[in-house]
Amino acid sequence: MATKQKKNKISVALRPISEHRIRIMRILVQVISFGLINGAIFGLGRMAVILPIEYPTGGPFSTVWNAFEALQYAITFGMFPYLAISIFLLVGSIFGKTTCGWICPFGAVQDMFSYIPIKKKKVSRPTNKSLGKVGLVLVVFIVLMSIIIGASWANSDPHTKTAWGAGKDMPFSTIDPVSTIFATLYYYLKWGIQGESIGAEIGQWEFLFFLRLAILLFVLVLITLYPRAYCRWFCPTGVILGFFSKFSILGLKINKNRCTSGCNACEKACPVQVPILSYDKNITDKSCTNCGECVDACKEGALKLTLRF
Ligand code: SF4
Ligand code: SF4
Repeated sequence: MATKQKKNKISVALRPISEHRIRIMRILVQVISFGLINGAIFGLGRMAVILPIEYPTGGPFSTVWNAFEALQYAITFGMFPYLAISIFLLVGSIFGKTTCGWICPFGAVQDMFSYIPIKKKKVSRPTNKSLGKVGLVLVVFIVLMSIIIGASWANSDPHTKTAWGAGKDMPFSTIDPVSTIFATLYYYLKWGIQGESIGAEIGQWEFLFFLRLAILLFVLVLITLYPRAYCRWFCPTGVILGFFSKFSILGLKINKNRCTSGCNACEKACPVQVPILSYDKNITDKSCTNCGECVDACKEGALKLTLRF
């Protein structure tokens, strides 16, 4: 009798772990990835790794390259971005947006902000879909800007891009809130406006600095109220990876035979408001980051993160 009671107590104590097992695994992966991506803190050097994540290549502790920055960099120097495109094709077609859910440092930051105990807001499905197009417009604009800069560089004598100011190599980095939080703020604090080296250079962009700060604050408020708002509406990397959601090898599947209670728990748990129940088998929504929150939430075991051959 006493042993049975003890067993019951243990199973009750372990319930939160078993109910959130994917979330716990994901947080572990996010923490380890964050450490490796910021590996310079622990003495790691730059690695020859390009990842489709939002993290500045020029960050003070960065060990990896950001694929969307690599894409802009190649184009603004008049080259075709073979490498960046290959990375997007390779990672996207195998993993879809899994890197967003499990590895991206700014994805992890957004998850942290979503844990702030303030009532979360939702937008209607059509609004969610329309706002998702903002990111697409941003990608097109940034690529066009990069092409214009690349053409002007190739035609200038001597080769220079100084007229394009801070965005001469990577136009998006001038306003990207992710660069602001992980790189610019650090350099500002370290060297100061009147300091040396990068600090002095940053000091010349004062208006830009305050603009960046305003954009960052806006995004931070937004992601506190609307979980993963940056991912679903603005992130260029997320937009590109979203194109692969339809045919990525790894992805989310629903078994409608098991979904009998109609509780809607999966959709309520989804941070990016994927209309999960409108799919019959493979969930191919462009916003889905394969985070697994819905899998944890479904008590019928109807959802699975799996290989979709
Ligand atoms: S969509 Fe979100 S998680 Fe994915 S790269 Fe962008 S910021 Fe990171
Ligand atoms: S559908 Fe599921 S796996 Fe995809 S983002 Fe929503 S909760 Fe995460």
